[in-house]
Amino acid sequence: MKKLMAANWKMYKTWDEARGTAEELVGLAAGKLPADREVLVFPPFTALKAVGDVLGPVAGFSAGGQDYYIQEEGAFTGEIAPKMLKDAGASFGLTGHSERRHVLGENDEYVGAKTAYGLKEGLKVILCIGELIEERKAGRVHEVLERQLRAGLKDVPTDIDPERLSVAYEPVWAIGTGEVAGPAEIVEAHEFTRKILVSIFWKKANEMRILYGGSVKPGNCAEIIALDNVDGVLVGGASLQGQSFSEIVLA
Ligand code: PEP
Repeated sequence: MKKLMAANWKMYKTWDEARGTAEELVGLAAGKLPADREVLVFPPFTALKAVGDVLGPVAGFSAGGQDYYIQEEGAFTGEIAPKMLKDAGASFGLTGHSERRHVLGENDEYVGAKTAYGLKEGLKVILCIGELIEERKAGRVHEVLERQLRAGLKDVPTDIDPERLSVAYEPVWAIGTGEVAGPAEIVEAHEFTRKILVSIFWKKANEMRILYGGSVKPGNCAEIIALDNVDGVLVGGASLQGQSFSEIVLA
């Protein structure tokens, strides 16, 4: 299973800035990318085509859409369909990111509908899960992760190609805060996530990637990526510069 090194650019970068960073990333990392690693960038929608054009032709590199709506087309002002993402060069979609859950108000059921729909429409999907700090302090990490996983995967066919579905464990208190979950916390949450995946998808779950996200940086990536059941990383802040993300990708 290849490690998936993913960048989430959130609402940053114009067309030119995004293309420039994608070119810098390819220049720094493409020649050195180990055969067992894959690089993925989620730019904002407006820069997806520009980034897809740069990354698409490079072996091991791809682009994804940060969000999409659960219809093929129609009167849904402001929304984007999976087929539009694919048309713009995306092969992946992201669901359940904490900013969409906690800032934009998406609930577990909607995240589940979105995950299943994206897969049905031919995207590979990364489902994000993760607890709030209050939930961790109250000893509710497992309860939250299990609820988000079961709802998020409720309508995903159990015969799904495991390469097309990944989960990102992103403790909300570690996203954009500089605070990284400790190795023991990461291993524990990933092991629990694997256990729930196995209960849903049986043997196939061992071929699904579980990514860690939350203040990953060049200085901590090598340690995190070597942990049990960590099959990649999802990086926000430190992915915005080609130099720092290339160091993460090659860590
Ligand atoms: C993210 O946006 O998914 C994320 C993990 O952000 P950061 O790396 O900035 O914590």
